Amino acid sequence: MTVDTTFQLLKTKRTKIIATLGPATFASERIQQLIEAGVNLFRLNMSHGDYDGYIQAHTYIREASDRLNTSVGIIADLCGPKIRTGQFKDGPITLTPGQQVTITTRDVEGEDGLIPSQYEQIADDLSPGDRVLLADGTMELTVESIDGTEVECVVVHGGELGSRKGINLPGVEISAPSMTEKDFEDAVFALDLGVEYLALSFVRKPQDLDELRDLIKKKRKRTGIIAKIEKPEAVERIEGIVDKADVLMVARGDLGVELPVEQVPLIQDELVNYARSRNRPVIVATQMLETMIENPTPTRAEVADISHAVRSGVDAIMLSGETAIGKHPIKAVQLMSRVAKQAEGHIWNKAYFGSLATQAPASITLSNPLRDAIANATAMLSRDLQVRAILVPSTTGTTARVLSASRPAAPLVAFSSNIHTCRKLSLMWGVTPIYFEEADLYQLDKLARHLTKRLEFANEGQSILLVKGFNPDPSQNKPSITVLEL
Ligand code: PEP
Repeated sequence: MTVDTTFQLLKTKRTKIIATLGPATFASERIQQLIEAGVNLFRLNMSHGDYDGYIQAHTYIREASDRLNTSVGIIADLCGPKIRTGQFKDGPITLTPGQQVTITTRDVEGEDGLIPSQYEQIADDLSPGDRVLLADGTMELTVESIDGTEVECVVVHGGELGSRKGINLPGVEISAPSMTEKDFEDAVFALDLGVEYLALSFVRKPQDLDELRDLIKKKRKRTGIIAKIEKPEAVERIEGIVDKADVLMVARGDLGVELPVEQVPLIQDELVNYARSRNRPVIVATQMLETMIENPTPTRAEVADISHAVRSGVDAIMLSGETAIGKHPIKAVQLMSRVAKQAEGHIWNKAYFGSLATQAPASITLSNPLRDAIANATAMLSRDLQVRAILVPSTTGTTARVLSASRPAAPLVAFSSNIHTCRKLSLMWGVTPIYFEEADLYQLDKLARHLTKRLEFANEGQSILLVKGFNPDPSQNKPSITVLEL
């Protein structure tokens, strides 16, 4: 069962790691250590922090990745229509089962029995009998009656409730827009900063992504959109959402509040399989190493969870509190890398990653069948010829993304003279993005050999594949796969 992860073809971790930045890691040196430990992208959570802090974080990340000569992506995570408690006058309040409490949208501070919320439509959206979940579902209320701005409730499960805690209304149709005013301002800020991805929280339907897509176009950017799937409505409309999003995130935290928690693992697998079958990169997030926020070692269940996600073929796995506020952020990333590499080695030894390849559903018309066919042929050749790397020149990153989706046996080296493309590709399974000057791209064979040697992916006499000839205009495609010997 032991896997030799030092074997040349398994040295590069294929599954990418996203780390959320926060007070525990907000320093240049820390960020460098996280990248060295295996982080490929950082998430800036727009629910916390301020613009000056994000600018500083952006500088730290770019500097650290330049020092390490690697491409690292940045995700700005927009809050979306997240409903929260307001401010409490004298700190957290205690909720006791059976107690009568009022949720109010008046602009007041909270106190015993009074919970303020900035979400003005809460009184319109709720009806008597509805459930209100507080602080990640740890507390529960039932609505008894509604009077103007006041929602009268009774406490079902109590606890300590503090300021700015999440409020979930499972099964209730929320009338809030998909992008709030704050989201819009945050998105403009993040686009100007130059992040690679914008994640949108609480997506409910495909059209929720339109406003963000329009904004990105207006700003003439190629920033990718990550749709966070954390509402049952989104799970039901996943086909349309996948059509419009560039990446999916299975956001298990809120998903497990909005839906019975026992359904989350099954929904995770279904979403991953569906995204994979449509060649959409997919991220699994939340509580992957939750106990490492406090402890230096993980639970066996956490290790099994990471290993399962990797073996289901996800592109990336994400850490939240573990790296944002945890006591052991570097250890958590090192552990995650080791678990990922062990699981990858296991699949490689069994089937050269072939078991991770997926077929598009019969109902789907492939947008570019030629490119998909070349991707499948590349995966087959990489397995049968045991090539040491697959080299792909990349302009927009699309070819590298499609090749990645076929989960080939050898690492993919995507080289581009566009730094933004390189950083975006940091999310894709198995892709090592390399930035190169335009001039070097005219001698592709020579460059491919040179890069492979520099990365120590192959030795003299071993083979690599060079896949090229794709054009943003499909009518200009002249694809070729070349076997090169070093
Ligand atoms: C989640 O709910 O799982 C999630 C990733 O979102 P956030 O961390 O923004 O709450």
